[in-house]
Amino acid sequence: MTPTHTTDGRASRVLVLNSGSSSVKYQLLDMRDRSRLATGLVERIGEETSRLVHTPSAGGGAPRERTGRIADHEQALKAAAEELAADGLGLDSPELAAIGHRVVHGGLRFSEPTVITDEVLQEIERLVPVAPLHNPANITGIRTAQALRPDLPQVAVFDTAFHTTMPEHAARYAIDVETADAHRIRRYGFHGTSHAYVSRRTAELLGRPVADVNVIVLHLGNGASASAVAGGRCVETSMGLTPLEGLVMGTRSGDVDPAVTFHLKRVAGMSVDEIDDLLNKRSGLVGLCGDNDMREIRRRVEEGDERAALAFDVYVHRLKKYIGAYSAVLGRVDAVVFTAGVGENSAPVREAAIAGLEGFGLAVDPDRNAVRSGEPRLISPDDARVAVAVVPTDEELEIAGQTFALVHN
Ligand code: AMP
Repeated sequence: MTPTHTTDGRASRVLVLNSGSSSVKYQLLDMRDRSRLATGLVERIGEETSRLVHTPSAGGGAPRERTGRIADHEQALKAAAEELAADGLGLDSPELAAIGHRVVHGGLRFSEPTVITDEVLQEIERLVPVAPLHNPANITGIRTAQALRPDLPQVAVFDTAFHTTMPEHAARYAIDVETADAHRIRRYGFHGTSHAYVSRRTAELLGRPVADVNVIVLHLGNGASASAVAGGRCVETSMGLTPLEGLVMGTRSGDVDPAVTFHLKRVAGMSVDEIDDLLNKRSGLVGLCGDNDMREIRRRVEEGDERAALAFDVYVHRLKKYIGAYSAVLGRVDAVVFTAGVGENSAPVREAAIAGLEGFGLAVDPDRNAVRSGEPRLISPDDARVAVAVVPTDEELEIAGQTFALVHN
Protein backbone atom coordinates (compact mmCIF):
# COMPACT_ATOMS: atom_id res chain seq x y z
CA MET A 1 0.00 0.00 0.00
CA THR A 2 1.27 3.48 -0.78
CA PRO A 3 2.04 5.56 2.29
CA THR A 4 -0.58 8.25 2.89
CA HIS A 5 0.85 10.14 5.83
CA THR A 6 2.72 13.39 5.68
CA THR A 7 6.46 13.13 6.23
CA ASP A 8 5.92 13.79 9.94
CA GLY A 9 3.57 10.79 10.13
CA ARG A 10 0.27 12.68 10.28
CA ALA A 11 -2.81 11.75 8.29
CA SER A 12 -2.83 13.62 4.99
CA ARG A 13 -6.25 13.11 3.41
CA VAL A 14 -9.11 15.59 3.51
CA LEU A 15 -12.67 14.85 2.40
CA VAL A 16 -14.44 17.95 1.05
CA LEU A 17 -18.23 17.95 1.19
CA ASN A 18 -20.49 20.41 -0.61
CA SER A 19 -24.05 19.62 0.46
CA GLY A 20 -26.89 21.24 -1.46
CA SER A 21 -30.61 20.86 -0.86
CA SER A 22 -30.89 17.79 -3.09
CA SER A 23 -27.26 17.01 -3.90
CA VAL A 24 -23.92 16.22 -2.32
CA LYS A 25 -20.61 16.78 -4.10
CA TYR A 26 -17.52 15.24 -2.60
CA GLN A 27 -13.80 15.10 -3.25
CA LEU A 28 -11.08 13.24 -1.41
CA LEU A 29 -7.70 14.94 -1.63
CA ASP A 30 -4.23 14.00 -0.49
CA MET A 31 -2.67 17.16 0.87
CA ARG A 32 0.92 15.95 0.55
CA ASP A 33 0.80 16.66 -3.17
CA ARG A 34 -2.71 18.20 -3.31
CA SER A 35 -3.80 15.38 -5.62
CA ARG A 36 -7.39 14.24 -6.01
CA LEU A 37 -7.97 10.61 -5.00
CA ALA A 38 -11.66 10.52 -5.91
CA THR A 39 -14.53 12.83 -6.78
CA GLY A 40 -18.25 12.24 -6.77
CA LEU A 41 -21.70 13.66 -7.01
CA VAL A 42 -25.02 12.45 -5.61
CA GLU A 43 -27.95 14.27 -7.16
CA ARG A 44 -31.74 14.28 -6.96
CA ILE A 45 -31.62 13.06 -3.34
CA GLY A 46 -35.12 12.11 -2.14
CA GLU A 47 -36.43 11.39 -5.64
CA GLU A 48 -36.93 8.05 -7.39
CA THR A 49 -34.32 9.07 -9.96
CA SER A 50 -31.40 9.71 -7.59
CA ARG A 51 -28.00 9.21 -9.14
CA LEU A 52 -24.49 8.80 -7.77
CA VAL A 53 -21.48 9.21 -10.02
CA HIS A 54 -18.15 8.30 -8.44
CA THR A 55 -14.87 8.89 -10.23
CA PRO A 56 -11.73 7.35 -8.78
CA SER A 57 -8.82 9.54 -9.83
CA ALA A 58 -5.99 7.32 -8.68
CA GLY A 59 -5.11 4.78 -11.36
CA GLY A 60 -7.40 6.47 -13.87
CA GLY A 61 -10.41 4.27 -13.02
CA ALA A 62 -13.62 4.74 -14.98
CA PRO A 63 -16.57 6.56 -13.37
CA ARG A 64 -19.09 4.31 -11.60
CA GLU A 65 -22.76 5.11 -11.48
CA ARG A 66 -25.62 4.11 -9.15
CA THR A 67 -29.21 4.94 -9.92
CA GLY A 68 -32.40 4.52 -7.93
CA ARG A 69 -33.82 6.29 -4.91
CA ILE A 70 -31.37 7.67 -2.36
CA ALA A 71 -33.74 8.81 0.38
CA ASP A 72 -31.77 11.47 2.22
CA HIS A 73 -28.34 13.00 2.88
CA GLU A 74 -27.44 10.25 5.31
CA GLN A 75 -27.99 7.58 2.66
CA ALA A 76 -26.16 9.74 0.11
CA LEU A 77 -23.09 10.05 2.28
CA LYS A 78 -23.19 6.35 3.17
CA ALA A 79 -23.34 5.48 -0.53
CA ALA A 80 -20.40 7.80 -1.23
CA ALA A 81 -18.49 6.22 1.67
CA GLU A 82 -19.11 2.75 0.21
CA GLU A 83 -17.79 3.84 -3.18
CA LEU A 84 -14.69 5.32 -1.53
CA ALA A 85 -14.22 2.12 0.48
CA ALA A 86 -14.41 0.06 -2.72
CA ASP A 87 -11.34 2.00 -3.90
CA GLY A 88 -9.52 1.38 -0.60
CA LEU A 89 -10.27 4.95 0.50
CA GLY A 90 -12.85 4.25 3.24
CA LEU A 91 -13.84 6.99 5.65
CA ASP A 92 -12.78 4.75 8.55
CA SER A 93 -9.19 5.09 7.35
CA PRO A 94 -6.65 6.51 9.82
CA GLU A 95 -5.26 8.44 6.84
CA LEU A 96 -8.28 10.75 6.88
CA ALA A 97 -7.26 13.94 8.72
CA ALA A 98 -10.51 15.90 8.57
CA ILE A 99 -13.70 16.61 6.69
CA GLY A 100 -14.04 20.11 5.23
CA HIS A 101 -17.56 21.39 4.63
CA ARG A 102 -18.53 24.20 2.31
CA VAL A 103 -20.94 26.36 4.31
CA VAL A 104 -22.61 29.10 2.33
CA HIS A 105 -23.44 31.67 5.01
CA GLY A 106 -21.17 32.46 7.94
CA GLY A 107 -22.65 35.88 8.68
CA LEU A 108 -20.34 38.38 10.32
CA ARG A 109 -18.97 36.05 12.92
CA PHE A 110 -17.07 33.54 10.77
CA SER A 111 -14.20 35.25 9.01
CA GLU A 112 -11.99 32.14 9.10
CA PRO A 113 -12.39 28.40 8.59
CA THR A 114 -13.69 27.02 11.88
CA VAL A 115 -13.64 23.63 13.61
CA ILE A 116 -17.28 22.67 14.07
CA THR A 117 -18.43 22.40 17.68
CA ASP A 118 -22.03 22.21 18.93
CA GLU A 119 -21.89 25.96 19.49
CA VAL A 120 -20.60 26.65 15.95
CA LEU A 121 -23.35 24.47 14.51
CA GLN A 122 -25.95 26.43 16.51
CA GLU A 123 -24.58 29.67 15.08
CA ILE A 124 -24.78 28.29 11.52
CA GLU A 125 -28.40 27.40 12.34
CA ARG A 126 -29.04 30.94 13.59
CA LEU A 127 -28.06 32.15 10.10
CA VAL A 128 -30.75 30.09 8.35
CA PRO A 129 -33.09 33.13 8.02
CA VAL A 130 -30.49 34.91 5.84
CA ALA A 131 -29.62 31.75 3.85
CA PRO A 132 -32.82 29.68 3.81
CA LEU A 133 -31.90 27.77 0.66
CA HIS A 134 -28.34 26.87 1.58
CA ASN A 135 -27.50 26.65 5.26
CA PRO A 136 -30.08 23.92 6.12
CA ALA A 137 -28.52 21.59 3.53
CA ASN A 138 -25.03 22.40 4.80
CA ILE A 139 -26.14 21.62 8.37
CA THR A 140 -27.61 18.28 7.27
CA GLY A 141 -24.31 17.42 5.56
CA ILE A 142 -22.34 18.27 8.69
CA ARG A 143 -24.61 16.25 11.01
CA THR A 144 -24.46 13.25 8.71
CA ALA A 145 -20.67 13.38 8.47
CA GLN A 146 -20.38 13.78 12.23
CA ALA A 147 -22.49 10.65 12.73
CA LEU A 148 -20.23 8.70 10.37
CA ARG A 149 -16.96 9.83 11.97
CA PRO A 150 -17.68 11.44 15.37
CA ASP A 151 -13.99 11.34 16.29
CA LEU A 152 -12.79 13.32 13.28
CA PRO A 153 -12.34 17.11 13.10
CA GLN A 154 -15.04 18.64 10.90
CA VAL A 155 -14.25 22.09 9.56
CA ALA A 156 -16.63 24.68 8.13
CA VAL A 157 -15.25 26.84 5.30
CA PHE A 158 -17.62 29.73 4.66
CA ASP A 159 -18.48 31.26 1.27
CA THR A 160 -18.87 34.61 3.01
CA ALA A 161 -15.62 34.55 5.02
CA PHE A 162 -13.31 36.22 2.48
CA HIS A 163 -15.69 39.17 2.24
CA THR A 164 -15.79 39.97 5.97
CA THR A 165 -12.85 42.36 5.41
CA MET A 166 -15.10 44.69 3.39
CA PRO A 167 -15.19 48.16 4.91
CA GLU A 168 -18.47 49.15 6.53
CA HIS A 169 -19.22 51.72 3.81
CA ALA A 170 -19.13 48.93 1.19
CA ALA A 171 -21.02 46.33 3.22
CA ARG A 172 -23.83 48.56 4.45
CA TYR A 173 -26.95 49.24 2.39
CA ALA A 174 -28.33 52.76 2.64
CA ILE A 175 -31.50 51.74 4.45
CA ASP A 176 -32.68 52.56 7.96
CA VAL A 177 -29.89 51.40 10.29
CA GLU A 178 -32.13 49.99 13.04
CA THR A 179 -34.20 47.95 10.60
CA ALA A 180 -31.11 46.68 8.80
CA ASP A 181 -29.36 45.69 12.03
CA ALA A 182 -32.44 44.04 13.54
CA HIS A 183 -32.66 41.72 10.54
CA ARG A 184 -28.91 41.44 9.84
CA ILE A 185 -29.37 43.02 6.41
CA ARG A 186 -26.03 43.92 4.81
CA ARG A 187 -23.82 42.87 1.93
CA TYR A 188 -22.19 39.55 2.83
CA GLY A 189 -20.98 38.37 -0.57
CA PHE A 190 -20.54 34.75 -1.70
CA HIS A 191 -18.11 32.62 -3.77
CA GLY A 192 -15.52 33.83 -1.25
CA THR A 193 -13.46 30.64 -1.42
CA SER A 194 -13.10 31.13 -5.15
CA HIS A 195 -12.30 34.85 -4.91
CA ALA A 196 -9.66 34.11 -2.26
CA TYR A 197 -8.03 31.31 -4.27
CA VAL A 198 -8.11 33.10 -7.61
CA SER A 199 -6.82 36.45 -6.31
CA ARG A 200 -3.90 34.67 -4.61
CA ARG A 201 -3.11 32.62 -7.73
CA THR A 202 -3.23 35.82 -9.81
CA ALA A 203 -0.53 37.40 -7.63
CA GLU A 204 1.56 34.25 -8.17
CA LEU A 205 0.97 34.49 -11.92
CA LEU A 206 2.18 38.10 -11.86
CA GLY A 207 5.17 37.03 -9.75
CA ARG A 208 4.36 39.59 -7.07
CA PRO A 209 3.51 39.38 -3.35
CA VAL A 210 -0.23 39.20 -2.69
CA ALA A 211 0.07 42.27 -0.44
CA ASP A 212 1.24 44.39 -3.41
CA VAL A 213 -1.44 43.65 -5.97
CA ASN A 214 -4.96 44.96 -6.57
CA VAL A 215 -7.17 42.56 -8.49
CA ILE A 216 -10.69 42.55 -9.90
CA VAL A 217 -11.92 38.94 -9.87
CA LEU A 218 -14.80 38.03 -12.20
CA HIS A 219 -16.21 34.65 -11.11
CA LEU A 220 -18.52 33.84 -14.03
CA GLY A 221 -20.20 30.47 -13.57
CA ASN A 222 -23.88 29.68 -13.54
CA GLY A 223 -23.84 31.94 -10.48
CA ALA A 224 -21.61 34.96 -11.05
CA SER A 225 -19.95 37.55 -8.85
CA ALA A 226 -17.23 40.18 -9.02
CA SER A 227 -14.90 41.25 -6.26
CA ALA A 228 -12.32 43.98 -5.73
CA VAL A 229 -9.33 42.66 -3.81
CA ALA A 230 -6.68 45.07 -2.51
CA GLY A 231 -3.48 43.48 -1.22
CA GLY A 232 -5.23 40.15 -0.60
CA ARG A 233 -8.20 41.69 1.25
CA CYS A 234 -11.66 41.90 -0.26
CA VAL A 235 -12.88 45.52 -0.30
CA GLU A 236 -16.04 45.12 -2.40
CA THR A 237 -18.13 42.36 -3.93
CA SER A 238 -21.22 42.20 -6.08
CA MET A 239 -23.40 39.64 -4.30
CA GLY A 240 -25.23 40.97 -1.26
CA LEU A 241 -27.52 39.70 1.48
CA THR A 242 -28.16 36.77 -0.85
CA PRO A 243 -26.50 35.58 -4.08
CA LEU A 244 -29.17 37.42 -6.13
CA GLU A 245 -27.47 40.82 -6.39
CA GLY A 246 -24.90 41.98 -8.91
CA LEU A 247 -23.96 40.46 -12.26
CA VAL A 248 -26.34 38.85 -14.74
CA MET A 249 -26.24 35.09 -14.01
CA GLY A 250 -27.51 31.90 -15.59
CA THR A 251 -30.95 32.14 -14.02
CA ARG A 252 -30.66 35.10 -11.58
CA SER A 253 -31.35 38.68 -12.55
CA GLY A 254 -28.53 40.31 -10.61
CA ASP A 255 -29.16 44.02 -9.98
CA VAL A 256 -32.68 45.32 -10.46
CA ASP A 257 -34.45 48.32 -9.02
CA PRO A 258 -35.89 46.98 -5.71
CA ALA A 259 -39.18 48.63 -6.70
CA VAL A 260 -39.56 45.93 -9.38
CA THR A 261 -40.61 43.58 -6.59
CA PHE A 262 -43.32 45.92 -5.22
CA HIS A 263 -44.51 46.53 -8.74
CA LEU A 264 -44.83 42.81 -9.47
CA LYS A 265 -46.74 42.31 -6.24
CA ARG A 266 -49.05 45.32 -6.52
CA VAL A 267 -49.58 45.50 -10.26
CA ALA A 268 -49.00 41.96 -11.51
CA GLY A 269 -50.51 40.34 -8.39
CA MET A 270 -47.59 37.98 -7.91
CA SER A 271 -46.85 36.50 -4.46
CA VAL A 272 -43.50 37.01 -2.77
CA ASP A 273 -42.61 33.36 -3.46
CA GLU A 274 -43.46 33.78 -7.14
CA ILE A 275 -41.29 36.88 -7.38
CA ASP A 276 -38.48 35.07 -5.57
CA ASP A 277 -38.78 32.24 -8.08
CA LEU A 278 -38.87 34.66 -11.02
CA LEU A 279 -35.75 36.59 -10.00
CA ASN A 280 -33.72 33.57 -8.86
CA LYS A 281 -34.76 30.87 -11.33
CA ARG A 282 -36.39 32.42 -14.39
CA SER A 283 -34.30 35.53 -14.96
CA GLY A 284 -30.72 36.23 -16.01
CA LEU A 285 -29.66 34.62 -19.29
CA VAL A 286 -32.54 32.10 -19.13
CA GLY A 287 -35.07 34.87 -18.68
CA LEU A 288 -33.59 36.92 -21.50
CA CYS A 289 -33.24 34.21 -24.13
CA GLY A 290 -34.33 30.82 -22.76
CA ASP A 291 -30.80 29.41 -22.42
CA ASN A 292 -28.32 29.70 -19.58
CA ASP A 293 -25.41 27.86 -21.16
CA MET A 294 -23.01 30.37 -22.70
CA ARG A 295 -21.95 27.84 -25.36
CA GLU A 296 -25.52 27.57 -26.61
CA ILE A 297 -26.03 31.33 -26.44
CA ARG A 298 -22.89 31.97 -28.53
CA ARG A 299 -24.00 29.34 -31.06
CA ARG A 300 -27.33 31.14 -31.41
CA VAL A 301 -25.61 34.55 -31.67
CA GLU A 302 -23.46 33.21 -34.51
CA GLU A 303 -26.67 32.12 -36.27
CA GLY A 304 -28.10 35.63 -35.97
CA ASP A 305 -30.57 34.96 -33.13
CA GLU A 306 -31.59 38.38 -31.80
CA ARG A 307 -32.75 37.31 -28.36
CA ALA A 308 -29.50 35.47 -27.73
CA ALA A 309 -27.58 38.55 -28.92
CA LEU A 310 -29.55 40.76 -26.54
CA ALA A 311 -28.90 38.36 -23.63
CA PHE A 312 -25.18 38.37 -24.43
CA ASP A 313 -25.09 42.17 -24.66
CA VAL A 314 -26.95 42.67 -21.35
CA TYR A 315 -24.57 40.18 -19.69
CA VAL A 316 -21.46 41.91 -21.03
CA HIS A 317 -22.72 45.43 -20.34
CA ARG A 318 -23.24 44.58 -16.66
CA LEU A 319 -19.73 43.11 -16.49
CA LYS A 320 -18.24 46.30 -17.93
CA LYS A 321 -20.11 48.41 -15.39
CA TYR A 322 -18.62 46.38 -12.56
CA ILE A 323 -15.11 46.48 -14.01
CA GLY A 324 -15.40 50.27 -14.21
CA ALA A 325 -16.90 50.62 -10.74
CA TYR A 326 -14.30 48.37 -9.12
CA SER A 327 -11.48 50.20 -10.93
CA ALA A 328 -12.72 53.33 -9.19
CA VAL A 329 -13.05 51.52 -5.84
CA LEU A 330 -9.48 50.20 -6.07
CA GLY A 331 -7.92 53.35 -7.54
CA ARG A 332 -5.13 51.28 -9.07
CA VAL A 333 -5.79 47.93 -10.74
CA ASP A 334 -2.99 45.44 -11.47
CA ALA A 335 -5.10 42.66 -12.97
CA VAL A 336 -8.59 41.80 -14.12
CA VAL A 337 -9.04 38.04 -13.88
CA PHE A 338 -11.69 35.74 -15.31
CA THR A 339 -12.64 32.46 -13.65
CA ALA A 340 -15.34 29.71 -13.38
CA GLY A 341 -17.25 28.01 -16.22
CA VAL A 342 -17.88 31.04 -18.43
CA GLY A 343 -14.80 33.03 -17.37
CA GLU A 344 -12.42 30.15 -18.00
CA ASN A 345 -13.95 28.95 -21.25
CA SER A 346 -15.68 31.73 -23.13
CA ALA A 347 -13.21 33.78 -25.18
CA PRO A 348 -16.07 35.88 -26.68
CA VAL A 349 -17.27 36.96 -23.21
CA ARG A 350 -13.73 37.94 -22.17
CA GLU A 351 -13.12 39.81 -25.42
CA ALA A 352 -16.42 41.68 -25.27
CA ALA A 353 -16.11 42.55 -21.56
CA ILE A 354 -12.68 44.17 -22.07
CA ALA A 355 -13.40 45.75 -25.49
CA GLY A 356 -13.40 49.54 -25.35
CA LEU A 357 -11.69 49.71 -21.94
CA GLU A 358 -8.34 50.90 -23.35
CA GLY A 359 -8.79 54.07 -21.32
CA PHE A 360 -8.52 51.88 -18.20
CA GLY A 361 -5.26 50.35 -19.52
CA LEU A 362 -7.13 47.14 -20.40
CA ALA A 363 -6.75 45.13 -23.59
CA VAL A 364 -6.98 41.50 -24.72
CA ASP A 365 -4.59 39.86 -27.17
CA PRO A 366 -6.83 37.82 -29.53
CA ASP A 367 -4.35 34.93 -29.97
CA ARG A 368 -3.75 34.60 -26.24
CA ASN A 369 -7.47 34.84 -25.56
CA ALA A 370 -8.17 32.00 -28.00
CA VAL A 371 -5.86 29.54 -26.19
CA ARG A 372 -7.74 26.80 -24.31
CA SER A 373 -5.91 25.64 -21.22
CA GLY A 374 -6.50 24.54 -17.64
CA GLU A 375 -3.56 26.63 -16.46
CA PRO A 376 -3.49 30.22 -15.17
CA ARG A 377 -2.49 32.49 -18.05
CA LEU A 378 -2.25 36.09 -19.19
CA ILE A 379 -4.40 37.13 -22.13
CA SER A 380 -3.36 40.80 -22.29
CA PRO A 381 -0.63 42.06 -24.65
CA ASP A 382 2.90 42.34 -23.23
CA ASP A 383 2.79 46.13 -23.14
CA ALA A 384 -0.58 46.35 -21.35
CA ARG A 385 -0.71 48.65 -18.32
CA VAL A 386 -3.12 46.28 -16.52
CA ALA A 387 -2.86 42.49 -16.80
CA VAL A 388 -5.90 40.55 -17.98
CA ALA A 389 -5.76 36.91 -16.91
CA VAL A 390 -7.65 33.63 -16.86
CA VAL A 391 -7.15 31.68 -13.63
CA PRO A 392 -9.12 28.44 -13.22
CA THR A 393 -10.78 28.30 -9.83
CA ASP A 394 -10.59 25.31 -7.51
CA GLU A 395 -12.92 25.73 -4.56
CA GLU A 396 -12.49 22.15 -3.35
CA LEU A 397 -8.70 22.46 -3.22
CA GLU A 398 -9.03 25.75 -1.34
CA ILE A 399 -11.48 24.20 1.16
CA ALA A 400 -9.18 21.19 1.61
CA GLY A 401 -6.14 23.45 2.05
CA GLN A 402 -7.84 25.65 4.63
CA THR A 403 -9.21 22.59 6.47
CA PHE A 404 -5.84 20.85 6.52
CA ALA A 405 -4.00 23.98 7.67
CA LEU A 406 -6.47 24.42 10.53
CA VAL A 407 -6.34 20.87 11.88
CA HIS A 408 -2.55 20.69 11.62
CA ASN A 409 -1.88 23.91 13.50
P1 AMP B 1 -19.86 26.79 -13.25
O1 AMP B 1 -21.06 27.24 -12.46
O2 AMP B 1 -18.59 27.49 -12.88
O3 AMP B 1 -19.71 25.30 -13.34
O4 AMP B 1 -20.16 27.26 -14.77
C1 AMP B 1 -21.18 26.67 -15.54
C2 AMP B 1 -21.42 27.50 -16.79
O5 AMP B 1 -20.19 27.65 -17.51
C3 AMP B 1 -22.36 26.85 -17.79
O6 AMP B 1 -23.70 27.18 -17.50
C4 AMP B 1 -21.94 27.48 -19.11
O7 AMP B 1 -22.65 28.68 -19.33
C5 AMP B 1 -20.49 27.84 -18.89
N1 AMP B 1 -19.55 27.05 -19.69
C6 AMP B 1 -19.04 25.83 -19.39
N2 AMP B 1 -18.21 25.41 -20.39
C7 AMP B 1 -18.20 26.41 -21.32
C8 AMP B 1 -17.54 26.60 -22.58
N3 AMP B 1 -16.72 25.68 -23.07
N4 AMP B 1 -17.78 27.75 -23.25
C9 AMP B 1 -18.60 28.68 -22.74
N5 AMP B 1 -19.24 28.57 -21.58
C10 AMP B 1 -19.05 27.45 -20.87
